[in-house]
Amino acid sequence: MIVLLLGSGGREHALAASLAKSPRLTRLIAAPGNPGIAEHAELRDVSVDDLDGIVALAKAEAVDLVVVGPEAPLVAGVVDRLADAGIKAFGPSGAAARLEGSKAFTKALCAEHGIPTAGFRHCRDAASAHAAVDAFGAPVVVKADGLAAGKGVVVAETLAEAHAAVDALFESAGAEAVVEEFMEGEEASLFALCDGTTALLFGDAQDHKRAYDGDEGPNTGGMGAYSPAPALSPAIAEDAMARIVRPTVKAMAEAGTPFVGFLYAGLMLTSDGPKLVEYNARFGDPEAQVVLPRLKDDLLDLLIAAVDGDLAARKPRFARETALAVVMAAKGYPGPHEKGSEIRGIAKAAARPGVTVYHAGTALDGDRLLAVGGRVLAVSAIGADAAEAQMNAYSAVDLIDWPEGFCRRDIGWRAAAQAEEG
Ligand code: AMP
Repeated sequence: MIVLLLGSGGREHALAASLAKSPRLTRLIAAPGNPGIAEHAELRDVSVDDLDGIVALAKAEAVDLVVVGPEAPLVAGVVDRLADAGIKAFGPSGAAARLEGSKAFTKALCAEHGIPTAGFRHCRDAASAHAAVDAFGAPVVVKADGLAAGKGVVVAETLAEAHAAVDALFESAGAEAVVEEFMEGEEASLFALCDGTTALLFGDAQDHKRAYDGDEGPNTGGMGAYSPAPALSPAIAEDAMARIVRPTVKAMAEAGTPFVGFLYAGLMLTSDGPKLVEYNARFGDPEAQVVLPRLKDDLLDLLIAAVDGDLAARKPRFARETALAVVMAAKGYPGPHEKGSEIRGIAKAAARPGVTVYHAGTALDGDRLLAVGGRVLAVSAIGADAAEAQMNAYSAVDLIDWPEGFCRRDIGWRAAAQAEEG
C-alpha cells in the first residue's frame, strides 16, 4: 500500500514510525513532514492547508490511503475532498470533525443524548452570558465559540473574574460563548478508533498543559504525557466508552455524519463518574508519542479496517509498560521564542534502550539540526512503570545538548509517585 501522511509534528512522527512497521506498507509519503518523519517517509513540500495540492499529490502518487494527523485540514474538509476524488482517507469528514470544531455542537449533542458533561448554556450575546454566569455561580467556566474560539477557556474562581471574561470575549464581533458548570476531579484522556459505527478503546493518557514545573505558568499545546493513565482504571475507561464515546458515535451515524478516525475524549473523573470535557477529532500531541509506542498490533491494518467500516471484530492490544514523553520547547514558548538554534546529541539520546526522540519543530541545515518551532522535540521512553519510564526519559533528555531549549523536569510526577508507593 502507498500511504500519504499529512502533518509535520511529533504526533505525525509517531504515526509514521508505527505505519513504517507494517508489512502491508510499500511506500510512505509525508506532506510536509519533518526531519524525523523523513527517516520513515519521502517528504513532499505540500502544506496541510493546501487541499487542492493534497488531492493532486494523492492522485499523482496513486495513494491508497491518506492518514490525516492535525485538526485544521479535517475541519476544512480534506477527507470530503479526497472522497470526492475517489481517494480513501483515515479521519472524519468536515461535518464529523465539528465534534472538535464547535463546542456548542458537541454540548447540544451531549444534551440530546444524555451524555455526561458539565451543565452549560450557549450564549449569543453578552447579556445572556452574564446571566448564565450568575445562574451557575462561581467557580464557573467561560469558553469562546464560533468566530472567537481562539480566545479559549477561562476557568473563573470568582464571579468578577467570570464577568470580566464574558466582557473580553464579546469585544470581538461574531463572538459566541459557552458558559459551563465547573467540574471537580482529575483529568485524563481516552482515545477511540472509530469506523463510523464501531468505537474501540485505543489507549489512554494524561498530559501536562502548563509550561512550567508544578503545573504552573501559561497553557501550552502540551509539555509531556504518559500512558497508561493510572487514574483511568479499566472499569472507568469502559464506563466512559459505554456512556460517552459509543453514544456519541451512534448519534453521529444516525445524523448521517458518521465519525471515522481517532476520537479523543478529554475526561474529568468526577465523584459521579467520568464526564466529557471536550472532544478532539484526531490523536493528541504528545499523547500519540506515548500511546503508539505501546501498540502491539499493525497500525496500518487497523486504520484500513476503520476506513472500510470493518472494526467490529478487532481489539487493539497495548503493552503493559508505561511510556512517558518529555517535550523540549524553545525558551520563551508559548510566548515569543527564537528560531534557528542548533540541537546536538539526539542520536546519543535515541540510542538508549526504549527511547524514541520524536521531532516536531525541527529543520535540517546541511547536517545541522535546527530548532524552528515552539515545541521542538518529544523524548519518549518506555519503562516497567511510570517511575522507570520517567527516569529513562530524563536520562535521554540529559544527553541532548540544546542550551536554547527547556523542558519541565516533573512530567508524570503524580503517576511516578504512585508507582513508587507501589
Ligand atoms: P477545553 O478547551 O474545553 O478542553 O478546556 C480546557 C481546559 O479547561 C480543560 O482541559 C480543563 O482543565 C478546563 N475545563 C474546561 N471545562 C471545564 C469544566 N466544565 N470544569 C472544570 N474545568 C474545565
